[in-house]
Amino acid sequence: MSERPHFARVALIGLGLIGSSIARAVKQIGLADELVATDASAAVRDRAAEIRLADRIAATNADAVRDADLVIACVPVGACAEVAASIAPHLKAGAIVSDVGSVKGAVLRAMCPLLPPSVHFIPAHPVAGTENSGPDAGFAELFINRWCILTPPEGIDAAALEKLTGFWRALGANVEVMSAEHHDLVLAVTSHLPHLIAYTIVGTADELEDVTRSEVLKFSAGGFRDFTRIAASDPTMWRDVFLTNKDAVLEMLGAFQEDLSKLTRAIRRGDGEALFDHFTRTRAIRRGIVDLGQETASADFGRPHGPLPKTPSS
Ligand code: NAP
Repeated sequence: MSERPHFARVALIGLGLIGSSIARAVKQIGLADELVATDASAAVRDRAAEIRLADRIAATNADAVRDADLVIACVPVGACAEVAASIAPHLKAGAIVSDVGSVKGAVLRAMCPLLPPSVHFIPAHPVAGTENSGPDAGFAELFINRWCILTPPEGIDAAALEKLTGFWRALGANVEVMSAEHHDLVLAVTSHLPHLIAYTIVGTADELEDVTRSEVLKFSAGGFRDFTRIAASDPTMWRDVFLTNKDAVLEMLGAFQEDLSKLTRAIRRGDGEALFDHFTRTRAIRRGIVDLGQETASADFGRPHGPLPKTPSS
């Protein structure tokens, strides 16, 4: 078990949902003597200063990373190369540089060649999030009991890996190490494909002409509502995920389309046994996720139900 590390200076680049959640947790736990943060957006920097997300809000990426011993880029995957280029000449030798992107192969390829060999570059992906964005969306508890996947390049310094592992464990996360390629394949099934399906279903329902928009919204609790939460996720982030994890997503999409064809055939043929067997298998998967503590056991995601309407007394 890695010990809780301490950093003289942590720098965060990007103060959206993930960056601002890390900032809040680092400050609450006291993981750094000084927390410096920045964002490309002046409005976000102003808001971060107003709500005191960090000890210092820097105006530029270069200024933020000076003398930092841990730097984390919390920006969309498509912005990682630009961030690496902007910080490379200003990094302290021996610093750990990481990110939080939802795709790992593309981040590794984009950032690694631009960073100096004197730093330890360890890409990371905290598998935790919500459909909200921006500095007000974050909260310190976001990573508790969630997984953070580290995808270090070969030959990484063991002490740096241990220190970053300790950092994420201090934030409450469980840490797993794997290759970037394997990460991208696993996440294509567990995250990228479900998001694509949600984006599709919500778009399809929106376009149906013989069901009005008001009916779709009114009767959404039939299942549609749960897809809308996922389909409300940040458009920039998800555009970048599909552009940068193209091969793995297309592979999983192929498998999905085959399974969809099987179910379509079962419905067309009235094959109740095939449908029942399939639904029994999927129900067990949901139970497995609950058993692993990755989801509440409460029905309907634990949504509260209001009281019964009062009956007028006669
Ligand atoms: P977000 O709320 O949209 O925040 C991203 C922030 O980064 C924005 O304020 C953005 O500013 C800023 N930014 C963009 N380019 C920049 C640059 N070159 N230099 C400095 N700042 C820059 O996004 P998020 O949800 O925190 O996601 C951040 C990363 O975490 C993504 O790579 C995503 O894949 C990953 N992730 C997200 C989730 C999730 O559920 N949201 C979960 C796990 C991992 P502008 O608005 O001005 O562009």
